[in-house]
Amino acid sequence: LTLQSDSADRAVRLAALDQRTQGCTSCRLSQSRTQIVFGAGNPETDLVFVGEGPGRDEDLKGEPFVGRAGQLLDKIIAAMGRRRSDVYICNVVKCRPPENRTPLPDESAACNPFLAEQLAILAPRAIVALGKCAAQVLLATDEPISRMRGRFFAYRDVPVMPTYHPAYLLRNPAAKRPVWEDMQKVMQLLSGSSSNG
Ligand code: SF4
Repeated sequence: LTLQSDSADRAVRLAALDQRTQGCTSCRLSQSRTQIVFGAGNPETDLVFVGEGPGRDEDLKGEPFVGRAGQLLDKIIAAMGRRRSDVYICNVVKCRPPENRTPLPDESAACNPFLAEQLAILAPRAIVALGKCAAQVLLATDEPISRMRGRFFAYRDVPVMPTYHPAYLLRNPAAKRPVWEDMQKVMQLLSGSSSNG
């Protein structure tokens, strides 16, 4: 009963937070967006993927990771024995940066309260940081992704695995192998009985 009310609570709290983001003008990305891309997935999940920001397809559809990179992310999730509907996917910034550029530090800082609250509500057992921007924002570092990937870090008390962004994999297929190694570590962590892995 407690678990059920917790998960209902998560869905309600996420929906309320989504509502609060609507119409946000806290940074300049509000001027170029079609719509806010809050995030999508299972509020009860143990696994959250955090990317950089919505691209053109995401901006039009209002859903994260629906373009080519999203299809590759679906394959990664499937290889982990999951479905997109089992996990939760969101981004550092909720509005599309012009020309898909990387969010500027003041933009990711402006959007961070939404991301922080989203992750606090979800309280997953693991977070995958997709690419440099997500890893650097979540872990408050400027380490290159190539140095961070493959090891767990902590965001609050949640283990974070930085790995390459699917858009990078589209340009550099050889990087799929290290990503798969990283995801195996995440699967291993999630299959452990201890919540700390
Ligand atoms: Fe608001 Fe975030 Fe969109 Fe900036 S990116 S306008 S902070 S929702």
